[in-house]
Amino acid sequence: MPLYDQHMHTQYSFDSEAQLRDYLAQTAGPVITTEHLEFANPDDGGRDDIPDYAAMRATQQKLSREFPNRLLLGIEAGYYAPAVNQLRAYLAAHPFDLTLLSFHHDGQHDFQDAYFQTIPLHAHVLTYYQRMLAGLQDFHDADVFAHFDYGLRIVDVTPAQLTAWAKPVLDQIFALIVQNGLAFEVNTKSMFKWHNAALYDLVIPWYQAAGGRLFTIGSDAHEKESYRNHFAEAVALLQDHHVDQIATYTQHQPTMVAI
Ligand SMILES: [Zn+2]
Ligand SMILES: [Zn+2]
Repeated sequence: MPLYDQHMHTQYSFDSEAQLRDYLAQTAGPVITTEHLEFANPDDGGRDDIPDYAAMRATQQKLSREFPNRLLLGIEAGYYAPAVNQLRAYLAAHPFDLTLLSFHHDGQHDFQDAYFQTIPLHAHVLTYYQRMLAGLQDFHDADVFAHFDYGLRIVDVTPAQLTAWAKPVLDQIFALIVQNGLAFEVNTKSMFKWHNAALYDLVIPWYQAAGGRLFTIGSDAHEKESYRNHFAEAVALLQDHHVDQIATYTQHQPTMVAI
């Protein structure tokens, strides 16, 4: 089994027009999509964005003869406390290979909304991670903890600031995800498009100190051009931290792949 991208979106996500065919054409290896499952989404007029499961499977079926890649199906589950029962119900009713768990919004604003550039940085960082910790205490039935830095993408936080402001909370977060067997995602969009590579370099040892050994790499592509973006750099970063394998998921079971 080769290393492959485990975070990408197509037309079944509210914010992507990408076609599955365009990713399939770029590799003979496994392809997995992780569409957004997002409740009360402020980035989409407060709508519940629920991927059409039957349509996703039908699209895979239609393309499977032309592209004999190994097709897998994942989901990016966005946590929002008031909708946790809907989240659990959807996941229980629909089989996936991989569940990413994400913290994208607070019910009022997506954490990439410019609103968060208008509030004090220290307060924003602390609140973001406290909400995340509370969310993980409530819900952690997933395979991968996606883009730990999502709420920091549009603000500039240095490693020293993150350490001073949020390390105690992040240590609790990492303890919880290790306890529940979640992998840590190296999100190359966060690292390079949003310039947070130094924060990944900072916290990978925190996850490891909590006992974390499972890692995935995801491009978070919303268009075909971003597929597998910067994977060489992500692999190099992991190797710097003495990680020599990553986890790939089929029916929620990890298979370790050497990097
Ligand atoms: Zn996301
Ligand atoms: Zn995503």
